[in-house]
Amino acid sequence: MRTDTRLECPVCSGEFRISPDEVRCGKCGRRWPVDDEIVVLSGAQRYWGEVSEADALQFLRDAEAHGWEQAARSRFADEPDMLAYLLDWQRASWVSMLALPPGFSALDVGAGYGAITHALARVAGEVCCVEAVPARIQFIRTRLRQSNIANVQLIQGSALSMPFKEESFDLIVVNGVLEWIGEWSTTRNPRAAQVSFLSVLRRSLKRDGVLLVGIENRFGYDEIRGAVDHSGVAYTSLMPRRVASWYLRLRRRSQYRTATSPDAGYRTYTYSLRGYNRLLRDSGLRLAEAYWAEPGYNQPYNLTPIDRRMVREKFLSRRSEPSQAPRRRGGLLKRLAAASGALGFVAPEFVLVAGRENAAPRDPSRHFVNVVRAACPEVPDVLRPAMTLSTYAWAAKSVVTVLDRQTARPAWVVKTSNGGQALSEQVCREFEALQRVNRAVKAVPDAPLTVPIPMGRLTLNGRVCSVEQAIPGMSAARLVFRSARRQWTPTLERHLPTYVRCADAVSRILLKTDGPRTSADLLPRISRVGAEGPEMSALLAAAMSSQTISEGRGCVQHGDFTLENLVHTGGSFDTPVAVIDWEHCACGFPPLYDVFSLLVSALPAHPEFDGQSEVGWVEAFDDAFFGHSAWTALFSNCLASALTLASVRREDLWALFSAFLLARYDHFRHKRMSAVHGEFIRRAAASEASFLDAH
Ligand SMILES: [Zn+2]
Repeated sequence: MRTDTRLECPVCSGEFRISPDEVRCGKCGRRWPVDDEIVVLSGAQRYWGEVSEADALQFLRDAEAHGWEQAARSRFADEPDMLAYLLDWQRASWVSMLALPPGFSALDVGAGYGAITHALARVAGEVCCVEAVPARIQFIRTRLRQSNIANVQLIQGSALSMPFKEESFDLIVVNGVLEWIGEWSTTRNPRAAQVSFLSVLRRSLKRDGVLLVGIENRFGYDEIRGAVDHSGVAYTSLMPRRVASWYLRLRRRSQYRTATSPDAGYRTYTYSLRGYNRLLRDSGLRLAEAYWAEPGYNQPYNLTPIDRRMVREKFLSRRSEPSQAPRRRGGLLKRLAAASGALGFVAPEFVLVAGRENAAPRDPSRHFVNVVRAACPEVPDVLRPAMTLSTYAWAAKSVVTVLDRQTARPAWVVKTSNGGQALSEQVCREFEALQRVNRAVKAVPDAPLTVPIPMGRLTLNGRVCSVEQAIPGMSAARLVFRSARRQWTPTLERHLPTYVRCADAVSRILLKTDGPRTSADLLPRISRVGAEGPEMSALLAAAMSSQTISEGRGCVQHGDFTLENLVHTGGSFDTPVAVIDWEHCACGFPPLYDVFSLLVSALPAHPEFDGQSEVGWVEAFDDAFFGHSAWTALFSNCLASALTLASVRREDLWALFSAFLLARYDHFRHKRMSAVHGEFIRRAAASEASFLDAH
């Protein structure tokens, strides 16, 4: 029989004695069963979940029989949000910016299907996981066992009576849970129940521990625009609580995810940021930073402090990422809110970082800066730091940017991986490439570009991270897209040729260096794609007609030379260009690979590209490479000048373009936009003659 260092009797706080089939309180003698490593403190009062109870049980059986990941992929094949909810490590993206101590202890309350528990278990010393629904906690047991993870204590129990000792955890996660507390605690006022729940959590938080809360904004713009509230009907969060209760009784509709009677009134309380501030204070906690979680706290791919300037900056820079195609996503309300600086007040979802009220003030950004600088003394201090985080669904890499809170000017970035060891190595490779490129650029007098200064490496959460200088200014993409739409084409006509010369300078500078040691492995990649269909094999045949490619001779290139990765350091077109993001830099790319990448990245400015569908993207591709328009002329000029600069024969152009398209298709396989790249190939295979005619 063992005693657990973090568990105690939820009734009398006595010592728990744990044996393989039961836990017993050493003080009051109460007993609870242990079901195959799950401590069963209570059964759920009623089933609760994203799918029906029968489906949840079937899903559990499938996971046991065929593997949890396979079961998730087949059960939710057509539900990308559920797939991400179950499988995406980036659900716990925020762990990168918390700089927790090595071997930290964590508690995940209301763990659902365990994605956050699982992500934390890979980097924490020990994780406790509380979930009330039997089918879900059993699913978590299955996924952890099948992944050989043994540092998680599973507890089937209610969030309302938790069995944890004082000062047990460095991190407590309450993701999508706090708003439901009123539903589960039917005898008290919902806010009082939330305060009591948070006070219990505060007690088991270490003195300098972090409480992380993912939750909706009561007055978020989704709510204002009529999104269904937790109550099952729209607009209830916006109403005074009593009116919402009356309205619910009137509507008599059962609630979202649960079956509580509407007679109980409105109990799923959410708050404004000020409201959360007060709620935490009343629970003996202190809100240290509030982040706008975008698209939401369950997909926390972009975290931006709720600060007028930082939110506005983030919104504007996200709008200029063509691959996100969000330029006209987000209605007028969102754009006005962003422009006026009010977006933070109507941000639909928050990630809140809090600490104990009486603990020494611990600003998470200050802490992060101190941890990084302790490991890398050459990294400059930032007087009043703030942090933003950006990544995307399924990404291997997260980027934490440290900014000056007053000016919102970025100082440096930490690139980190939330994935396994292989992904950690990718971060290392990028850093080494940047070091070599940096030396090479310095050696060239009057180089027409700069690159970020590599600053150091450190280990956070058991993963290698790299630190590099942040480039202030504006990306070429943002400079193009912030002008009026009719200006996009003339702006590109003016500046694209400069970027083509920049691409050529990059490959010349890289040629003179010892070069990145990794290879783009072009031949095996394009051969693999070439076997996939007649159009692919036609392009492969064209590619292999070039000696450069058939003999596997390539050159060192950036590998992702896009308008987003070209940053004008002074924020206008006439200031110097820095080339960022050297993750894909390698030897073995065919000549002009970077130029083709650049041209493709300009397509979202094409008049055919509507920013909504993938169809417009393909139409733009078709016209610019194979048509007779101003865009065809622009691309033709760029390609002609690239050929001259790189001393490549015009006869090779079609082969190089074919190789580029196949390699690019391979790169985007299984990612967003893979369908677009497949369509690019089909269009290209049918258009060789037009291409030769146009260029
Ligand atoms: Zn007891």
